Amino acid sequence: MVAKNDTQMSKSHAIGIDIGGTSLKCGVVNELGEILFSFIVSLKEAKTEAEIINLMIDAIKQCTDQLKEPIVGIGIGFPGLIEDDVIIGGGVNLPGFEQLPLGKILKDRTGHNIVIDNDANLMGLAELIYGAAKDSTDAVFLTIGTGIGGAIMINKGLYSGFKNRGGELGHTVIQQNGILCNCGGRGCLETYASVTALINYYKTQNTAAEENIDGKTIIEKYLSGEDHAVKTMQHHFDYLAAGIVNFVNIFSPQKVIIGGGISEAGQFYIDELTQRVKTGALPISFAHSKIVAAELGNKAGLLGACANAFQKFKNA
Ligand SMILES: [Zn+2]
Repeated sequence: MVAKNDTQMSKSHAIGIDIGGTSLKCGVVNELGEILFSFIVSLKEAKTEAEIINLMIDAIKQCTDQLKEPIVGIGIGFPGLIEDDVIIGGGVNLPGFEQLPLGKILKDRTGHNIVIDNDANLMGLAELIYGAAKDSTDAVFLTIGTGIGGAIMINKGLYSGFKNRGGELGHTVIQQNGILCNCGGRGCLETYASVTALINYYKTQNTAAEENIDGKTIIEKYLSGEDHAVKTMQHHFDYLAAGIVNFVNIFSPQKVIIGGGISEAGQFYIDELTQRVKTGALPISFAHSKIVAAELGNKAGLLGACANAFQKFKNA
């Protein structure tokens, strides 16, 4: 916890909005990364992008009314491709959000500075500024879930290539002509090392597995020594580590941050990866690297959206 004096010293606030497929999370964060308040708005009833934008504007107004102080700006996280605050596309369940100049629309309607980025990028940025890599300048972030999202951070900022189109660490190819991926490619890291891949692999090993088995159950079985689960987790660690070896050799990050529910499985998860990456990576590249679990959990999206607003607008 941060001492009260530090809180009083921080005069700057940002509003963050973390948009998901069925809801959005909105809140106010100060520069120390403390969430003053936050709330969730369901998007299930909203049928068009115009209705979703209205819900966002209502949420922003609710924040400014409650805060009663100026803000530096509003950061937004969106699950898709964003270029210059224009949503190009990619948001599952949000079909109206294509070629949508959301940044301009919200700036015109609220008068506030707006910055938008991909949600995985912002989760990584949150860990870099407020979480597992706050003492580091260079880091790589992976969120392991139904897919694998990633973020690259260099010199205390995000790096995602020309026009924000790179940083797709989950779609780096680790198996030539391998399993078909949702992206259309083959052999992507996420088709071997996501939680979806973990479950699919377990079912090939244990044909008597329950249809709706989840990652958590497989880990419980692994910890109790069940043969199929042990083999499945070894396979998972081997492939995820192969991906991480590549990222270490390219970026030599101080931290490789592993997020997503599975990263909370326990220290054994980080230890198994570390052991393999240490063996596979170039010793000079891994010399200053550490694999760590993410610290911010489901607050990372909101905190990262605000961190992005502070980085863009604090001294603007
Ligand atoms: Zn892919």
